Amino acid sequence: MEEGMSQGAGAGPALSCLYVNPAGQRRSEFQRACDGLFAHLEVADGAEQAASLLAQQPADVLVLDLERFEIGIDLPALGQLVAGRAGAPVLVLCPFTNARWLPSLMSHGPLAYAIGPLRPEEIRIEVSARLAQGFALPVAPGPVEAELAALLAVRSEAQQALAEADDSIRFGERLCVALRGCPGVMHAAVFQLHEGGDLRLEAQHGHHGLDLAKVLGRAERLLQSPLRHAFPGLLAAAGGEPALLDALDKAGEPVLAQALQAQGVRMVLGLPIPASGPGAPRGALCLLFDGARAFSRAELGAFADLAQLAAFGLRMAELMRESEELLGRVTQLATLDALTGVANRRHGEYLMEQEIKRARRYRLPLALIAFDIDRFRNINDAYGHPVGDMALRIVTDTARALLRSSDVLVRSGGEEFQVIAPHTSAIDGLKMAEKLRAAIEQAEIPGCDHVTVSLGVAQLGELENGDSLAVRVNAALARAKRAGRNCVELAMQ
Ligand code: GH3
Ligand code: MG
Ligand code: MG
Repeated sequence: MEEGMSQGAGAGPALSCLYVNPAGQRRSEFQRACDGLFAHLEVADGAEQAASLLAQQPADVLVLDLERFEIGIDLPALGQLVAGRAGAPVLVLCPFTNARWLPSLMSHGPLAYAIGPLRPEEIRIEVSARLAQGFALPVAPGPVEAELAALLAVRSEAQQALAEADDSIRFGERLCVALRGCPGVMHAAVFQLHEGGDLRLEAQHGHHGLDLAKVLGRAERLLQSPLRHAFPGLLAAAGGEPALLDALDKAGEPVLAQALQAQGVRMVLGLPIPASGPGAPRGALCLLFDGARAFSRAELGAFADLAQLAAFGLRMAELMRESEELLGRVTQLATLDALTGVANRRHGEYLMEQEIKRARRYRLPLALIAFDIDRFRNINDAYGHPVGDMALRIVTDTARALLRSSDVLVRSGGEEFQVIAPHTSAIDGLKMAEKLRAAIEQAEIPGCDHVTVSLGVAQLGELENGDSLAVRVNAALARAKRAGRNCVELAMQ
């Protein structure tokens, strides 16, 4: 082989290597680039294959090439691989766009990295240089450093949770999953303040069998709970200051302490989630630890960052919900008639166009019924406008009750309505109109006479547009009026 290219300085290649990447082409490139550098070079297409190869034959050097891996899917398994090295050399080739993987992977164990993209010759230089130093790793992080690295990984995961901040519960759940990665944390929870000062347990994740709703006796109205002065999560939400219970019995609530101790909880930290302006906090993060520990300043700073991040996420979820509500209200105002709640004329015209397109595409019949209350002016004159309004609502409700869900009822004018009836021929439209006529004639209107309606029916012609259909159906309606009212007329083609 190309022994001459070996960088193994005299002694020749001595170490074995396992290279991991999902793309076959990159694996071949790496093999070519590093030809002769290792005594033995194996490749794997993912964490699973790598783990099984390592189980058979440990490799001196593990090279994880992150190009083409998916952060959401592959990170945990790759982290396991790093953890399984127990300090043996790991080199991570990390594309610059994926640099946020590094702190996550570092939380699993020490590693060296090279930021890509790297051309094959650059890969060879990187690997050779490290081989020349015997793949000496930077000094393994001490305990405090390792914990900070874990906190950084939690923060990057929490930042990813922001992608789901369109819903406070989903965001809270993802945040809790991330917080579980904090060193020593066995369970994490998010408390959020809702309208009317209602503090709720929004999400929790972690220890199986530990349910904070049970421990606290409720999941809502928690600021009114007798434990609000004892449980750090509630204390932080109420007071706006971090609360740390490093020995549970210090809170003077033996039942609470016992319930938590029974689940293996030894320490609880509550962190206020700051509000966007002055006033009460938006809620609190609560971390439950399986052992007592002393936090460094840096760690507490990292916790505060996480609480700030939670504030962003919950605020985003709130804005999202508000804008959806607003959009819903605006859409309703723009499309529905305020008095009767059915489609207004403009929206009716839009829906008519949609139905016409659909009828043409699927070659289905489409009928339009128009009806108008008979001598409605007399109702107003005799009983007053408010009673007239009620009559309009009752006529609408009576008609709506008879229609199929696919039919659209439109208030096309003062006391004039239309029914757009998809999948309906002229004959069926006539039957439907007759049913409407009979039902409205029967409808009871408190404090008022019965009212009747006159109706016109038309079926959409093959080449007809909405305007022409409306003209024909109104002509039929006018004939029904002339024919004496309270009757149905079919439109001419
Ligand atoms: P016909 O249709 O049988 O020829 O007689 P009509 O009396 O119903 O005819 P016209 O269309 O002239 O009168 C419609 C009346 O409907 C006039 C108007 O005061 C009344 N109207 C229209 N919109 C409303 C409304 O929102 N509330 C009430 N109470 N009355 C309305
Ligand atoms: Mg009328
Ligand atoms: Mg009218």
